[in-house]
Amino acid sequence: DTAIVWYRNDLRTGDNAALLAASQHRAVVPVFIHQPVTPARPLGGARNWWLHHSLARLGEQLESLGAPLLLLTGDPEELVPRLVQSTGASAVYWNRRYDPAYQDADAALKHQLQSDGIVAESFAGQLLHEPTRLRTGSGGFYKVYSPFWRAIEPDLDNRPPAPAPQTLAPLVPVPASENLDDWKLLPTGPDWAGGLVKAWLPGEEGAKERLAEFLDERLPDYAERRDVPGVAATSGLSPHLAHGEITPAQILEALKHSDTEASTADRTVFRKEIGWREFSWHLLANRPDLANSNYSSKFDNFPWIAPSDQALSAWRKGMTGYPIVDAGMRQLWQTGWMHNRVRMVTASFLTKHLMIDWRQGESWFWDTLVDADPASNAASWQWVAGSGADAAPYFRIFNPVLQGEKFDPEGDYVRQFVPELAQMPNRYLHKPWAAPDDVLAKAGVRLGETYPEPVVDHQTVRNRALAAYQQIKDVA
Ligand code: FAD
Repeated sequence: DTAIVWYRNDLRTGDNAALLAASQHRAVVPVFIHQPVTPARPLGGARNWWLHHSLARLGEQLESLGAPLLLLTGDPEELVPRLVQSTGASAVYWNRRYDPAYQDADAALKHQLQSDGIVAESFAGQLLHEPTRLRTGSGGFYKVYSPFWRAIEPDLDNRPPAPAPQTLAPLVPVPASENLDDWKLLPTGPDWAGGLVKAWLPGEEGAKERLAEFLDERLPDYAERRDVPGVAATSGLSPHLAHGEITPAQILEALKHSDTEASTADRTVFRKEIGWREFSWHLLANRPDLANSNYSSKFDNFPWIAPSDQALSAWRKGMTGYPIVDAGMRQLWQTGWMHNRVRMVTASFLTKHLMIDWRQGESWFWDTLVDADPASNAASWQWVAGSGADAAPYFRIFNPVLQGEKFDPEGDYVRQFVPELAQMPNRYLHKPWAAPDDVLAKAGVRLGETYPEPVVDHQTVRNRALAAYQQIKDVA
């Protein structure tokens, strides 16, 4: 008998319950379906780049296990039943994806298959908790992180990862597959992916290497250094998690068995970050419109400023004149990733300094991040903007100069991504406009020519943002 494994955002062979279940059958047909039209938001450019390479790696792995990956284009609700017929499969397995946009389609397909007498089963793996099942004492969902964490933390280690199958028997003859290159997931026209190629190794092997390197080299001191963007102190696992090349259970298992010299604080803080990912998915599963609507409805009346092309484009290109903001936005463009501290600073700058609606920033991140994630991106943007669940208080407006001086005191980060300021002394690096003329001249900086003047004045726009907040606060 034959089993189909429908791959989605779980591009791995290890800790893959669907694949493991299928491996018990006589023949296995793993399939990935490219959906040009989907009920969910289409992936952005950076994630498509990643997806291409990840699928290529997965294809090689499955081939070496014995059952090649089948690539198809179209609507899974039609294609999966058709594939069941053409292969004579008796079972279809998949791992649950928690994007609410897919819930109805996945449930309908399962129902349809089951009523045709086919075994259709879905498994957990992407998350450590079931986001719509976890309930508070009063029956609702968790809106605050700490109680959420307390509720799921004790169970985290009770889900040991599943082993990868050793071999998979193919269906003979192997069904004909489309060609990955024909899907045109890679950039056409200007090739913006050069920096991504240097920074990342998509695929399950790349994820494992990242994890091992992180545990050995970066976990010690993680608690302290994770906030310093100029050193590679965090795991860089987010794009691998976003594509399901590794699971949170695998990460926690490796953490538990790691004999690294990391302190309890380092380990606890890291686990809690994994917890923030869970919390974001918990929010999205219970508030499916999280990427579109203010979680807190009082923000529906917030007087956002219609973005002028100039302001939005200065932010996107990293040309705001605030070095830490510009370094972050350029890191994003060049590598498809941005350090968490700087994500907070750049998001705060867009929503509070420029007073541009957080949805504009969320969608730019969606397109440019290799780890763009429907839950973490939306939840984090709302958190920074002040409109989210358990959000940062609105009046906490990051001062980009002080943030730069505190977290990038030697300027390593800014010098790397804003090379035109590389010769500026530390004292003025985060506020070049304050430097005396001779210092600027010596550093080869001509403000307004080699590097922009600040697009806004911090104190002025800080007051403007606070006044705007006062308006909605008074109404609420
Ligand atoms: P590490 O510090 O090594 O953390 C390990 C893992 O924990 C991460 O891979 C991630 O899965 C999870 N994690 C860490 N911090 C957070 C957090 N604050 N929220 C949720 N999960 C977290 N993360 C995404 O994965 N996708 C996004 O689209 C995304 N958009 C963001 C947008 C904004 C405005 C902000 C402020 C944060 C966003 N984050 C997003 C969260 C966070 O910045 C990244 O998860 C983190 O920088 C990834 O780097 P890392 O893997 O080295 O993290």
